[in-house]
Amino acid sequence: MDQRLMQGKHMEKILVLLHTEADGSLGRAARECLSLAASLGKYDLAISGADASAAANSAEGSAERILCIAADEFAVPRSSTDSAAAEMLIRTSGATLVLAPGTSRWSRALPMAAARLGGVIDTHAVGLEVVGDSIQVKRWFYRQRIEGTVARSGSPWIVVIEPGAFTATEATPRQATIETQSLELAVSPRTTVEGTISTAAGEQTIRPDAALLFVAGAGWTKKQKDGQVHFADAADRIQTFVHKSKCSLGSSKSLVDLSSEGEAVLPFLTHLHQVGQTGSTPRHRKGLATCCHGEEPHVVGWRFINERRAVNLDPNCGWARGKADVLYVADAFEVMKELNALLD
Ligand SMILES: Cc1cc2nc3c(=O)[nH]c(=O)nc-3n(C[C@H](O)[C@H](O)[C@H](O)COP(=O)(O)OP(=O)(O)OC[C@H]3O[C@@H](n4cnc5c(N)ncnc54)[C@H](O)[C@@H]3O)c2cc1C
Repeated sequence: MDQRLMQGKHMEKILVLLHTEADGSLGRAARECLSLAASLGKYDLAISGADASAAANSAEGSAERILCIAADEFAVPRSSTDSAAAEMLIRTSGATLVLAPGTSRWSRALPMAAARLGGVIDTHAVGLEVVGDSIQVKRWFYRQRIEGTVARSGSPWIVVIEPGAFTATEATPRQATIETQSLELAVSPRTTVEGTISTAAGEQTIRPDAALLFVAGAGWTKKQKDGQVHFADAADRIQTFVHKSKCSLGSSKSLVDLSSEGEAVLPFLTHLHQVGQTGSTPRHRKGLATCCHGEEPHVVGWRFINERRAVNLDPNCGWARGKADVLYVADAFEVMKELNALLD
């Protein structure tokens, strides 16, 4: 966890800006934002979305003021309603610094709100420091190679916090009883949200909130000890494990490149699953790599995976060279079959 926070006295009026999830709850990224704000001192809380005032009552910490927008049209993710809600909540709060979780919903809507407010915005924040009487934000540049520090004089300054960068506190009841102020906002969205269709891969297997990242490498498509390839078994082992463990699924570049060249090897893997230098850099507590060699351009994407394990037939693979905490020199087809049986 990249959590750097120096205590000090800052001059900002802080607002934590959240939205509820589809079930009316607050997600992990929202709770991470709340605990970050609590460590900075006083803050106000604003929530938009379905059951926003119920969510405000369940929010841990002790906000000084609570604002909500909960009308039906704000229940669904939609750029026009989300940006209008964010704009109104920020304007009403009078905040100079807004902390918001980097969910897909806020990542789309908040730049628009910042522009309308004449404010400034920084995204993917992974650290926050109080320096003197001002706040500085840390974020990575150039594909996680350079860490930079950003300070702004514009206001309001919206800082979108990278999920997983700060620790969420366990939910505790609110310390003070503060009346939630519900705001009325009339918008006539031109877009109607009719429902959700899952990705072409058939289901959502990229789960940033999961404790475990499971990575599949190209070895799943290689000839095995019987001289044959076993695509169907590979797909079954991987998908069964993902379903049972509710982990997030990642892939090496070699494997997703194969899939996109029309070979229909493992069609549930897309380039969005690719972890590495030219892929993503997810954050999870644990990672398990299977049939993946552990080459540097891949492993660099594991920078924020705390505990790393790998299964590979080759005792000299990259994982064995200081890149994993534990390497199981074994056949991943057999290991995953056994593991799936244990998960029953
Ligand atoms: C500029 C650049 C950027 C790149 N960016 C990325 C990136 O973002 N992400 C990325 O992943 N790669 C990236 N690469 C490619 C990277 O260098 C490797 O080529 C790639 O990660 C290899 O994928 P792999 O380990 O799945 O496949 P392979 O190298 O083919 O390894 C397959 C492994 O499977 C093992 N295996 C086979 N059968 C079994 C079995 N039954 N049980 C257990 N193990 C088995 C083999 O021992 C082998 O180690 C990049 C390369 C370059 C040059």
